[in-house]
Amino acid sequence: DQSEKWTEIDHYFSTNLHASDPIMDSVRKANAEANLPAIDVSPNQGKLLYLLATLKGAKNILEIGTLGGYSSIWLARALPNDGKLITLESNDQHAKVAHENIKNAGLDGKVEILVGAALDTLPTLEPKGFSDFDLIFIDADKPNIPHYVKWALKLSRPGAVIIVDNVVRKGHVIDDNSEDLGVQGIRQMVDWLSEEPRIDSTAIQTVGTKGYDGFVLGVVKE
Ligand code: SAM
Repeated sequence: DQSEKWTEIDHYFSTNLHASDPIMDSVRKANAEANLPAIDVSPNQGKLLYLLATLKGAKNILEIGTLGGYSSIWLARALPNDGKLITLESNDQHAKVAHENIKNAGLDGKVEILVGAALDTLPTLEPKGFSDFDLIFIDADKPNIPHYVKWALKLSRPGAVIIVDNVVRKGHVIDDNSEDLGVQGIRQMVDWLSEEPRIDSTAIQTVGTKGYDGFVLGVVKE
């Protein structure tokens, strides 16, 4: 079975390349104990987010879709002392677990969770002084993805990195008759990106512990 092999190989790389990580282990344990769905990024994907934020030298990060804060913690680890990550989550229970995990990771000074539907909290960011993000990670409800990328462009500074997770949907993304609202959302985003000259983008398919999926990587032009 291919997926067993993908999982084994993911495990091989994560255990060898970022072996002992008691904080990340305890986040995953806390999320499981709180019965959060296991839909966070994998350890290798989390490390990729951390490395992208490091490469970018990101100081202001926006995340849409917090869950238990697993990816938030990976991203926030890349921040300098005066850096900030704002993460948006609609589910109170998820936000509570994330808050606890972020505190235990010693990152509560750098991370702020805004609770509410992202389409309601996004318009509040700029008035609160949160804008000019240099990395934006979109990982919430898929039907709203087209709105989220438009907000990402509006709230980012030139050179910003935009990452959109789960854009392959086991291959369903190429089904133009799909009734899945998530697939439709992704396809609308792709159509929009194809006509948006201010963002340069590509998409990478992935396999691993999370099965077959992929992400869009974009850069806001200078
Ligand atoms: N980024 C997280 C990680 O890797 O650890 C995983 C996020 S999970 C895939 C998606 C999250 O988005 C869930 O916690 C869900 O409650 C949240 N969500 C769903 N719809 C939302 C909305 N309209 N606004 C904000 N958050 C939403």
